[in-house]
Amino acid sequence: MSAQIIDGAALSARLRAELKQRAVTLSARGRQPGLGVILVGDNPASRVYVRNKLKACADAGIHAELVEFPATIAESAVLASIRALNADPSIHGILVQLPLPSQVAETKVLETIAVEKDVDGFHVQNIGSLVVGKPAFAPCTPAGCMAMLDHIGVAIEGQEAVVIGRSNIVGKPMALMLLQRSATVTICTSRTRDLSGHTRRADILVVATGKPHMVTGAMIKPGAVVIDVGINRLSDGKLCGDVDFDSAKEMAAWITPVPGGVGPMTITMLLSNTVRAAELATG
Ligand code: NDP
Repeated sequence: MSAQIIDGAALSARLRAELKQRAVTLSARGRQPGLGVILVGDNPASRVYVRNKLKACADAGIHAELVEFPATIAESAVLASIRALNADPSIHGILVQLPLPSQVAETKVLETIAVEKDVDGFHVQNIGSLVVGKPAFAPCTPAGCMAMLDHIGVAIEGQEAVVIGRSNIVGKPMALMLLQRSATVTICTSRTRDLSGHTRRADILVVATGKPHMVTGAMIKPGAVVIDVGINRLSDGKLCGDVDFDSAKEMAAWITPVPGGVGPMTITMLLSNTVRAAELATG
């Protein structure tokens, strides 16, 4: 068996065309959607992510404003720039690219973003809304994974779903979204005993560990849907996921590639949240 590919790039292109229409409609009413992006330091991966997000905004008719700070910046300056974006009526969404240098507290930064502009969905109030099943802005990466599951039409209710990873930005919200759709959800971490015992039961397997190729075909239930969130750069410069694609595709029914899977969908969900924030602000 060779799995069908869930093409995140193609699905993104379709969804982004729809979002562009909505952005054009808003712009015609003098309310072009606006995204404020804060980048601190010189992390090369962060620079690439920000560049991709700015380009995606431009292509979708979203106005994007980049605020850059050196790695040595004081926390107070970052907070002040978030407050300025909170007060700016041309900005509907605010994104702070993570990770931040150690002197800038991530929690404080994320909680300074106005909830109605929290298009990354990381504010504790938005996470709380997700827990009670009424998310205002769902975190982009898990929202992108859910959109891919819906796109292929896989049943979620009643399915065994296993999420490997418990980060606040991927693993935990992913598990909550699957639970919201009535999957039976297991979350695995680095402390899990018998990881394969869990993964081999999964109808839906989401892997977000940051460990290249750690999930192999032998760990996958035949016919499963495998969503690989990982983005890892190997020593030869190539990107790979957390799943060993070649062996996994022989077991799975559906699988996301890296690159071209979850990555573009994450950016698409950011655009979607930003357009939605602008629509809500416009009434
Ligand atoms: P974190 O490092 O914050 O979390 C990794 C999680 O994986 C932790 O919960 C950790 O467990 C768990 N883990 C690590 N090793 C193992 C193991 N051997 N067995 C079981 N669990 C393990 O990473 P993120 O969630 O931020 O990101 C995960 C991956 O997703 C990365 O490759 C990142 O680059 C990528 N990513 C991709 C995005 C996209 O748009 N496609 C967006 C965001 C992230 P423990 O908690 O016990 O340490």
